[in-house]
Amino acid sequence: MDKTTGVYICTGCGIGDALELDPLKELVSDEYGISICKDHPFLCGKEGVELIKGDVEGEGVNTIVIAACSGRVNYDVFDFGPDKIVERVNLREQVAWCQPPNEEDTQMLAEDYLRMGCAKANDTEPPVPFQAEEEYSKDILVVGGGIAGMTAALDTAKAGYRAVLVEKEAGLGGFLAKMKKRITMPYKELTDTGADALIQAVEEHPNIQVYTSSTVEKISGGPGLFSVEIKTENGSASERVGAVIQATGWVPYDASKLEHLGYGKFKNVLTNVEMEQMAAAGKIKRPSDGKDAKSVLFVQCAGSRDPEHLPYCSSVCCLVSLKQATYLKEQDPEAVSYILYKDMRTLGQAEDFYRKAQNDGNIFIRGSVMQVGESGDKLFVEAEDELLGEKVRLEELDLVVLATGLVPASKPEVTPMIKAPADAEDADEDGMIEVLPDSGFFANSALNLEYRQGPELPTLKYGFPDSHFICFPYETRRTGIYSAGCIRRPMETAKALDDAAGAAMKAIQCAEATAKGIAVHPRAGDMSFPEFNMQRCTQCKRCTEECPFGAINEDEKANPLPNPTRCRRCGVCMGACPERIISFKNYSVGMIGNMLKAIHVPEEDEEKPRIVAFVCENDAYPALDMAGIKRMNWSPYVRFIPVRCLGSINLVWVADSLSRGIDGLLFMGCRHGDDYQCHFIKGSELANTRLSKVSETLDRLALESERVKFVEVGITDYYKIPEIISEFMETIDEVGPNPYKGW
Ligand code: SF4
Ligand code: SF4
Repeated sequence: MDKTTGVYICTGCGIGDALELDPLKELVSDEYGISICKDHPFLCGKEGVELIKGDVEGEGVNTIVIAACSGRVNYDVFDFGPDKIVERVNLREQVAWCQPPNEEDTQMLAEDYLRMGCAKANDTEPPVPFQAEEEYSKDILVVGGGIAGMTAALDTAKAGYRAVLVEKEAGLGGFLAKMKKRITMPYKELTDTGADALIQAVEEHPNIQVYTSSTVEKISGGPGLFSVEIKTENGSASERVGAVIQATGWVPYDASKLEHLGYGKFKNVLTNVEMEQMAAAGKIKRPSDGKDAKSVLFVQCAGSRDPEHLPYCSSVCCLVSLKQATYLKEQDPEAVSYILYKDMRTLGQAEDFYRKAQNDGNIFIRGSVMQVGESGDKLFVEAEDELLGEKVRLEELDLVVLATGLVPASKPEVTPMIKAPADAEDADEDGMIEVLPDSGFFANSALNLEYRQGPELPTLKYGFPDSHFICFPYETRRTGIYSAGCIRRPMETAKALDDAAGAAMKAIQCAEATAKGIAVHPRAGDMSFPEFNMQRCTQCKRCTEECPFGAINEDEKANPLPNPTRCRRCGVCMGACPERIISFKNYSVGMIGNMLKAIHVPEEDEEKPRIVAFVCENDAYPALDMAGIKRMNWSPYVRFIPVRCLGSINLVWVADSLSRGIDGLLFMGCRHGDDYQCHFIKGSELANTRLSKVSETLDRLALESERVKFVEVGITDYYKIPEIISEFMETIDEVGPNPYKGW
């Protein structure tokens, strides 16, 4: 693009009081040859914006450098259309508001930022949204026909989009259809599960295609372009969809692993799933002799909240046991239920149901089970009663029900067989049959992704295929594939309804955004995507392996095959590529390299060190802005360069900076590890790993390793900024100036 650049400096918000304008304007014309450079006391006001628009129309300005507030604010005000380049230079939060006014160092800081802004604008091209040759689909595939899957399909259809629902079982409904009753608002009474009505609504909706007794054999392509092969009862079917929702539910934890609880050893020890199915089938009986149960003990947290089994709380088991105790009371008002618990977790208004269960005469014991045993034809339980501080023995029990936890149906290795109702055909001598739980889908076999990175959705540490614990509900690490319901985390039916709606909306957003060629969260609306200069590719596979979203396949010769609609535009591939052949129209290795070159590095005797801080745009940069807003203060010798993700950092920037005489490099990114905060999953971790290898560069330059430092900065860590910087400045002070200054 032939560029006509205009630079606009705002003097409002204290900027004009802190800086001299003339030197700023001079550098724009002298160093960058830009003749249009204007200032305005209120650039984001109507008159200021009109000033810029006047130049766009009258002077043909198509590249606009705005030296004013942070690019995180007023981006809508300074939007002049997709064909105009807008580069923001942060003179407010990161100069005027955090540095003393009218000092030489403050002025030098502003000048460097303006140079970096001009250099960046010079290297930026307007992105052109990716458009595939094939036709995009906005249909949504939902895998799993339980409460979350059915609701997601229904919400999709109600929003005007076609849903394709694939269910492995012969009928829809999942666990919901197998339940006797459900606890609904106002949490005092049990109600019908609503499964029949929901199934009917799904089956009758003209915009939902239901495949039962069917499985997904293969999903290939990417958002907007997914090809789905479905194995049906009588053959096969193909669908093209824009996004996918996995709602394959949960399976109960394998109770036989809880040896001291007697499951599998004593016939009258059941799981809560078996109890529910028995209640739904008619009566709560003792499997050993078919007699009605009159005394039942529920063991809470059977496996859950136990580091040896399921370290997390399974969320629903407390309410399920209260519900099943209520079934027993309804069956026989004289029957007794004991509930042995660590903590009763009945959140929100569900507390009302807990109180009702207390008033119904159920007996609650806080403690833990030491032993379950059999005495005659009855069971006994020995437990440590925490409130009494002594051992108690409960005898004459007809049933012990284990409130086993929920395991995402994505971990086949922990999926147990369960005992089916006693009247099943081909039952064993005890009248039981071993089957997989009814919603026994596994992520591993439910989607069968044809991705170079494997057929499964990557999972968080407990096996849930979410992409993040905090920030991005429903998102998985495969763009355009969302999870809903208990596959995402343990949740009760009411929450699964909300979850399904959330995932459906995310899937629709993705299909719509993809059709427009723009990115989804967290760079929502970004039109740029990575372009590969394949002539210089050495087939090293680093981009393919390091892309956090599995966006890059490869051919048989190991050439990368990017799938732009899967791309989240993080730039991790750009940082990974040793040949530096991956770039975006508005973000590239060369561009940041030129920004680094734009920084003026004073001579050693001036005693003005220069630090470059690469800052993650998602958390650390907003933290910096917040520190500026709070008028915190830090060294004027640091130049911050925002990056899409620390994972996009190419090590050549380290070498470039140090060989130019930059004294130190800070890398400010998101927390990594199991509880990572990185918006691009592992970008921050990759950056840390790559930086651990810069010692080679430092050795080659005979420089100290302390000159390069990685720090984790969350969005709420703004108050730590001054300390982080002053600590690093002290280190640089100790190691002394970079000997390459002036080379
Ligand atoms: S690493 Fe990031 S930018 Fe590169 S292809 Fe993957 S998602 Fe896209
Ligand atoms: S990282 Fe670069 S050189 Fe390596 S395969 Fe990818 S594009 Fe090619």
